Amino acid sequence: MTLATHPTQTRSTAAAFSGLKCKECGAEYEAKAIHVCELCFGPLEVTYDYAHLSKVVTRQTIEAGPKSIWRYRSFLPVATDNLIDVGTGFTPLLKANRLARRLGIKNLYIKNDAVNMPTLSFKDRVVSVALTRARELGFTTVSCASTGNLANSTAAIAAHAGLDCCVFIPSDLEAGKVLGTLIYGPTVMAVHGNYDQVNRLCSEVANTHGWGFVNINLRPYYSEGSKTLGYEVIEQLGWQLPDHIVAPLASGSLFTKIYKGFQEFTKVGLVEEKAVRFSGAQADGCSPIAQAYREDRDFITPVKPNTIAKSIAIGNPADGVYALDIARKTNGNIESVSDPEVVEGIKLLAETEGIFTETAGGTTIAVLKKLAEAGKINPDETTVAYITGNGLKTQEAVQGYIGEPLTIEPKLESFERALERAQTLGRLEWQQVTV
Ligand SMILES: *Cc1c(COP(=O)(O)O)cnc(C)c1O
Ligand SMILES: [Zn+2]
Repeated sequence: MTLATHPTQTRSTAAAFSGLKCKECGAEYEAKAIHVCELCFGPLEVTYDYAHLSKVVTRQTIEAGPKSIWRYRSFLPVATDNLIDVGTGFTPLLKANRLARRLGIKNLYIKNDAVNMPTLSFKDRVVSVALTRARELGFTTVSCASTGNLANSTAAIAAHAGLDCCVFIPSDLEAGKVLGTLIYGPTVMAVHGNYDQVNRLCSEVANTHGWGFVNINLRPYYSEGSKTLGYEVIEQLGWQLPDHIVAPLASGSLFTKIYKGFQEFTKVGLVEEKAVRFSGAQADGCSPIAQAYREDRDFITPVKPNTIAKSIAIGNPADGVYALDIARKTNGNIESVSDPEVVEGIKLLAETEGIFTETAGGTTIAVLKKLAEAGKINPDETTVAYITGNGLKTQEAVQGYIGEPLTIEPKLESFERALERAQTLGRLEWQQVTV
C-alpha cells in the first residue's frame, strides 16, 4: 500500500509538529510511518515548532478546548482536523488524603486513568493519537503487539473509526483483557510466547503486510499520546508542576513522555520551571530497568517475564535506557516489588481511596509505599502516583485475597447472626443507631 497523506484532508492551522528526529544522532525525517533511524537504528521522535507554539498557545486557549486529550492537540502529531475523539483523557486527579496518611506523607495525588475512556486504561491516550495519525497516513488496517490493554484500546478505537483491526497478544493473558478485546470484533492472534516474542513477530508482519502497528511503525506518534498525562496533571494542579511523580514502567515510554510533557509546557511558558523527581515502578518478576538502576548500569539486560503484573511485563524495554537516565538525573528512584506486594498495593488503594486498579496500579502503589517507608519521598513533596489501568480487567490477580460475601437467608435473624460474625472477624465497625 502507499502511505501518502490523503490529499483531500486539509492541513490544520493548529498543527505545529514538524517531522521526526533520531533521539540518538539527530538525523531528521519526514513524518511518515517509520520509527527507527536509518543511520544509527536509534528511535525516532516527533519534533515541534516550539517558538510558534509559545506564541499561539495560552492557558486560556487550552482551557477553552474539549475535555479530552484533544485540548492539547497543538502538542500532538496530527496534521488535520479529522480527529478520532472518543472522549479519551481528562481523567480525575484525586487528592489522596487517606492513602497519604497511611504512608506517612502529606501531599499525595492519584491520577486516575483506571477510568479513562473508552477502555479504562491510559492506552486509550496513545491509541487515539496513533489511529488519528494512521488514518492521516492512509492506513486502513491497524494492529499492535500488546500486553493486554493496548489490544483493548486498539480494537475499540479502530471499531469507532471504522478501521480494520488485527491485534497480537501473548496467549496467557487475563480473561478480562481477552474478552475486552474480542467484544469489538477484531482479529485476535494469541501467540504462544511472551510479549517480547509477540513484539518480534509483529515487527516482521509490519514489514510484510503494510499495516499500521500503533507501537511499531507508528510508535513515534503513539508515544506522544502519553504526554497528555503530564499536561493534565499540570493543568489540574492549577498550572503547576508536582515535586515528584511515581509511574509504572513497561517499555518505559509512558515515563519518558510524562517527562517530555513537563519539559514542553515549561519551554513554551505555560508553567513555571521546577525540578520534578521521577520514580519508576516495576514488578520483581519483570524488572530489567529496576535491576539496571540498582546495579548502577546504563544498559538494560533483558529478562524473561514471570509476574502477575502482565500489563507491564516487557522483558526487553525499548525506552528502558531513557527511563533510567530520567530517574537518575531528576534524583528519583526505580524500585520493584514482589507479586504479593502488588496485590497488597491493589487492596491498599481500593480500601483507602475507593479506586480499583489493575496489577500495574498495584505495582505503582506498592513502590510508592516502599519509597515512602524508606524515606525516599519527602513527606511535604507534592507527589502524583499514576494509576494506569482498571482492576476489573485483572480479577484473577486478587481472587482469593479479598474475602467472601456473607451469604444469608432473607430473614432478620439470619442477618443478625451474620453481622455478629462479621464483627468478630473485625470486618465491620458497627455503630448502633436508633431510628
Ligand atoms: C502499557 C501499560 C503501562 C506502561 O507502558 P509503557 O510501555 O511503559 O509506556 C503501564 N500501565 C498499564 C496499565 C499499561 O497497560
Ligand atoms: Zn540516528
